[in-house]
Amino acid sequence: MGVQRLAFFDLDNTLIDRQNALSGWVNEFCISRDLSDSACIKMCEELSVRAYPADFVRLRRELQLAESADELWKSYVRGIAARVTCRPGTAQRLGELRAAGWSLGVITNGAVDIQQAKLKQTGLLGAFDMVCISGEVGVRKPSPEIFEAAARRCALPLDGWMVGDNPATDVGGGQAVGLRTLWISGGREWPAGARNPDSIAEDASAAITYLLEWGYGRQPQSSGIL
Ligand SMILES: [Mg+2]
Repeated sequence: MGVQRLAFFDLDNTLIDRQNALSGWVNEFCISRDLSDSACIKMCEELSVRAYPADFVRLRRELQLAESADELWKSYVRGIAARVTCRPGTAQRLGELRAAGWSLGVITNGAVDIQQAKLKQTGLLGAFDMVCISGEVGVRKPSPEIFEAAARRCALPLDGWMVGDNPATDVGGGQAVGLRTLWISGGREWPAGARNPDSIAEDASAAITYLLEWGYGRQPQSSGIL
């Protein structure tokens, strides 16, 4: 019997382009409400890493917006879900991994409604065996508990790969629970001082190519792309 192959993927800016969706939505939101450029920049900054309903309680007060915080959150969820994209062929590439015997999961930090809306909108939901969202698990990456919960949901030991764009939460979090790690660089340099991931790929498709080739069994001649 072969080794069970397991890979977890981060969602935002790993599988999907959250940054473009966010700036597009904030721009349109600010224009439609006649908000200043500085308000627009403030919203982009405050929502750039993550967004939760509580952020809109604060933004509503600071920008003196008329709608309720709940309405603002719903408008954010609809607006981001409508704009978010993934590279063409991402679902098919994930399908290649599954056809090669891999179990696939998403481990993402965020609120349940927005993260699920993004997965549905981009057609990626069906490409995964399970989805683990911090808003529903109750802990965020890099906490070990969220990786442990994800492995339990796959009914597999916590032994495999974590693929993500965040050096601390994805790579550091994965390393801390003994996963092999693949960093999605998006063309960036790996931060000095941080423990190296097992491999680096420019985007999710290149990561999948690497996993198909080197994920289990054979060892590359050099240590991946590093
Ligand atoms: Mg990410």
